[in-house]
Amino acid sequence: MSRGASRELDALRSLHQVFTAIHSGQDLAEVLQRAAQGVVDALGFQVAVIDFVDPYGYVEALAVAGDEDACRALKGRRVSLDELQDEFEVAEDWGLLKFVPHDRLPEGAEYSWAPDYEPLEDPDAWHPLDALIALLQGPTGEMLGMLSVDLPVDGRRPNHLTRQVLEMFAVQAGLAIYHAQERERLQERVRLAAATRRIVETASQELHLDRVLEACFEPLVDGFHADRVVIRIFDVEAEGPHGELLGTEGATYPSGILGHLPQMLRGEQGESSRVRGERMLDLGERVAGVCWPLRRSVVVGELGDTTRDLLTETERLDTLGVVQGLGASTMLLVPLGAGPECLGYVALMRADASSGWTEAENEAALEVGRELGRVVHRTRLYQRERQLVTELQELDHYKVEMIGTITHELKNPLTSISGHVELLEDEGVAPASVGAISRNVRRLQRLVGDLLLLNRVQDPQRPFSPSPLDLSALVEEVGDLLAIQADRREVTLDTEGVSPAIKVLGERDDVLRLLTNVIGNGIKYTPRGGTVLLSARIADGRAEFTCRDTGIGIAEEDLATLFDEFDRGSNPAAHAEPGTGLGLAIVRRIVERHGGSVEVESALGVGSTFRVTLPMPSRNSSRSEVAPSGSFRIGG
Ligand code: ADP
Repeated sequence: MSRGASRELDALRSLHQVFTAIHSGQDLAEVLQRAAQGVVDALGFQVAVIDFVDPYGYVEALAVAGDEDACRALKGRRVSLDELQDEFEVAEDWGLLKFVPHDRLPEGAEYSWAPDYEPLEDPDAWHPLDALIALLQGPTGEMLGMLSVDLPVDGRRPNHLTRQVLEMFAVQAGLAIYHAQERERLQERVRLAAATRRIVETASQELHLDRVLEACFEPLVDGFHADRVVIRIFDVEAEGPHGELLGTEGATYPSGILGHLPQMLRGEQGESSRVRGERMLDLGERVAGVCWPLRRSVVVGELGDTTRDLLTETERLDTLGVVQGLGASTMLLVPLGAGPECLGYVALMRADASSGWTEAENEAALEVGRELGRVVHRTRLYQRERQLVTELQELDHYKVEMIGTITHELKNPLTSISGHVELLEDEGVAPASVGAISRNVRRLQRLVGDLLLLNRVQDPQRPFSPSPLDLSALVEEVGDLLAIQADRREVTLDTEGVSPAIKVLGERDDVLRLLTNVIGNGIKYTPRGGTVLLSARIADGRAEFTCRDTGIGIAEEDLATLFDEFDRGSNPAAHAEPGTGLGLAIVRRIVERHGGSVEVESALGVGSTFRVTLPMPSRNSSRSEVAPSGSFRIGG
C-alpha cells in the first residue's frame, strides 16, 4: 500500500472514530479535540484548530492539536468574526473550505501564530502565512465554528482528496457542536423550568412576601447559574425616591453569595460610595420602570450590553463598576410588576461573562419577574384590605361610643322630667297637657332604653362569653313577667308547647331580652281574645323557640325589612301600638352574636310565627333549611 493510501485509510478510520464519538454523546471539548487530533494524525497537517462561535460574535479556539508551540499560542484564542470576514472575502472558495493565500491577506491583519520557516520553491508550496479554513455549520447552514489547518507535512497545498476528507471532518465537527448545543439548550430549559416552577409554587402557597422572596434565592442561583441575586421591591408607601427594600437578605443560603444590594451600596464604606449607591438605586428604578411596560430585560456587562438605549455612557460605566464591585462581570436585570405598575426588579449577576445570558434565561427571568410582581401586588391588596377592616372596626366602635354617650345624656334629663311630671300628677295639680307630656316622656324613655340596648348588643368590642342556659326555664320566666300585660289585653299566653330542660349556649341577659321582645310583640300585636302560643324543643340538633300568635299579621312586602332599625312596617294597626321599631333589630343582633337564626312566617289578619334557633351546649349538627314563601329568615 502506498504511503498516500495508508494515510487516507488512517483519515477514514479517524473520521469514523469522530463520528462514533459524536453519536455516543461525549463531552464536546473532548470530541473536538479528537477531531483536531484526527486531522493532524491522518491528514498530514502539523496544526489543526477548532474554533467555536460564541453568542457575542467571537470565535474561540476550543481544540488545538499538533505542534506544541502552536497549541500554546492558539488554545483559548478569541478573534472577532468581523475580522475573519475580511479574510474570507479575499479567500479562494474550495467548497466548504476557504483558502487564504498569504499574498491576499488584508492589510494590517494580525496573526495569533506564524511559524518560522522558509517555503519550498514550488508554485504549489505552502507559505507560513497561508490559511486553510473549513466552516463548521449547523443543519440550516448557520455558522457554528471553524476548523483551520496549517503546516502540511509535505510543505504543499493539500490535494483534492485531502480537501475532501478535511471537509468530511468539518461536517462531523459541525454536527458535534450542533448536538452539544442542542443538548445544552435542552438541559438549560429543564433547569430553568424547574427553577421557575419552584418559585411559582412557593408564590402560590405563601402569603408573606418576605418568605416568598427568601425562597426565590436558591432556585434563582441554581436555575440561572447566578453568583449573586438581588431582588428589590419598591415601597409605594415610603417617602423619598427609593422606598424600602424587602427580602434581599439571602444570608440563609449556604454558599453565602447572596447579598443586600442597598446595604452593600449604601454600605458603611464612607460618603462617596453611599452617594454612588443612592444613584445606582435611582438608576435601577428608572431602568426597571422603562423595561416593565415593554416586558423586556437589560444586560449590563462588558459583553452583550443592552443598556445603550437606556443609559448614558457614564451611567453605564458606573453601573458596570458597581456590578464588578460586587464580584460579577455581567448582570441581567428584569423588572417585576403587575398590570401597568412596575413594582421592583430582580438582578441576576454572574462572574463569568463569556457564556452570556441566553434567550431561554431571559424569558425565564421575565416570567419570574411577572410572578413576583403578582405576589407583591397580591400582598399589597391583602395588606390594604386588612387596614380597611381595622379602620371600619374602629369606625364602628366610635359609632357605638357616640350613640352610647348621646343616649346617656338624654336619659338623665328625661328621668328628671318624668319625676317632676309624676309629682304634678300625684299632687292633683296637673293640667290636661301634662298627660301629653307624660306620654311623650314615656315614649322617649322607651326609645332611649332601646337605643342603649341596641348599642350594647352591637358593640364589636363587647366580649362574647356564652354559658349553658335552660331555655325552657327562661321562656317560662319571661312568660310569667309578661302575663300581666297579656291579661290586661285579654290575650291568652300559652306555654304548653315548652318542653322541659331545653339547653342553649348563650348569654343570659341577651337571651332574656330576645324572648321578651318576641313574646312582647306577640302580645302587643294580637287583638283582644287572641292567643300567643309558645314552644321550645330540639330540632335538627339545635334548640328551637317558637312564638305563634293569632294577631294582626305582617304584610309580605314588610318582611324583608322587618329586622331593620326603626322599621315599623306598613300596617296602620301596628302603628296604633306604642313602639320604637328597634325591638326586632335587637333580636337580630342577639341571634347573630349567638350563631343562631330567626325566621318569620306571617299572613295579614291571620297571625305570625317567629321561630328562633340557638346552638346547644354540645353542638353536633347544624341546621340548613330553606325558608318558605311569605317568610323571612336571618342567620345560619
Ligand atoms: P316595635 O314593636 O317597637 O315597633 P319591633 O322591631 O319589635 O318594633 O317590630 C317591628 C315591626 O314589626 C312592628 O312595628 C310591627 O309592625 C311588626 N311586628 C313585629 N312583631 C309582630 C307581630 N307579632 N305581629 C305583627 N306585627 C309584628
